[in-house]
Amino acid sequence: MKIELDLTRRGDAASPAPRSLAGLSLPALKAEMEALGLEPKKAGMRAKQLRRWMHHFGVQEFDGMTDVAKDLRAELGEKFILTRPEIADHQVSRDGTQKWLARFGPGIEGESVYIPDVGKAGALCVSSQVGCTLNCTFCHTGTQKLVRNLTAQEIVSQVLIARDALDGWPSDEEDRRLTNIVFMGMGEPLYNLDNVAEAIDTISDGDGIAIGRRRINVSTAGVAPKIVELGERTNAMLAISLHATNDDLRNEIVPINRKYNLKELFEAIRAYPGLGNSRRVTFEYVMLKGVNDSLAEARDLVRLLRGVPAKINLIPFNPWPGSPYECSDWDTIEEFAEVLNQAGYASPIRTPRGRDILAACGQLRSESVKKSAAEKRREALEAAAE
Ligand code: SAH
Repeated sequence: MKIELDLTRRGDAASPAPRSLAGLSLPALKAEMEALGLEPKKAGMRAKQLRRWMHHFGVQEFDGMTDVAKDLRAELGEKFILTRPEIADHQVSRDGTQKWLARFGPGIEGESVYIPDVGKAGALCVSSQVGCTLNCTFCHTGTQKLVRNLTAQEIVSQVLIARDALDGWPSDEEDRRLTNIVFMGMGEPLYNLDNVAEAIDTISDGDGIAIGRRRINVSTAGVAPKIVELGERTNAMLAISLHATNDDLRNEIVPINRKYNLKELFEAIRAYPGLGNSRRVTFEYVMLKGVNDSLAEARDLVRLLRGVPAKINLIPFNPWPGSPYECSDWDTIEEFAEVLNQAGYASPIRTPRGRDILAACGQLRSESVKKSAAEKRREALEAAAE
């Protein structure tokens, strides 16, 4: 059977479906305005107005933009929309944790998790990729192959979705529930640094979403050559998924260690710009029964961190379907923490949140899979034939 592509359909190359502007960075908005034919200066001004309406007031209709000329509003309304990605699923845990599954495109889904009482008032854990390339043995996301990097806009849209649900708008209202952002969702942020940096510019913009850079924490499994660049480009706070204190074990459970070992990793960490008592690196350490939880390892951890302004987060292992580990016993975790306490690290145990909805650290995973070019072509043809 021969299938003809109908190029007049809405959403194809001949007449593209309206795209959303919500979540775009200021430079990207300016480029869109220039593409409409506005002079660079005018385009810059319009971009700033749009940024404020979308990211400070959260409007989702051009009609609300009272300082934009009516005919331009009408033109914008024809070409663009202001909506967020579709929410494919939303769950609320017994403990108040919330999880959203956003559909960024057909078959491209990623999770974000809101955790109350973390940071100043509450933190949103955002994804930077759908799937992951790293294969850490204790992590559920690691069992999902990389589908693709998220764009800066898609990363920011996770924050818009959460603010819609939690706080409403405008951004500077008091008593915000969403005050902190952690890049600890699906994916390795430093393998998508351009988009992560652009997203952080937008999230921290004082005339927009206005979550300060010191309240944004980026976690890496240890992409050493990108760590200093992260600091220079974003000024965000750094978190390191450490999980082991020697190369042998770390090679096994965090395989990226075979590429960048502990020595190289710590050289990069020590060079992170602006470190000091008020700007500490967070070290995450998942507690795996009989694997990395001995008191000798607690003492090794203290030695390893000597001279680095650090906070430690012991994460009780969160199980997921088919996971090959158990969480350390509570007594073991407390004894391990006590060694760290004695060395001057305060309250290092992270309470597991949202386990009942698989929203806790390392439990995120979506059903999205990367499609081959042939599969994509077939689907496009089938959709066109419908
Ligand atoms: N790839 C980045 C961002 C993900 S952060 C990174 O590795 O830092 C997610 C955090 O949850 C990481 O510290 C990760 O090691 C931790 N984690 C993964 N699986 C876990 C599990 N099953 N239980 C507890 N923590 C886990």
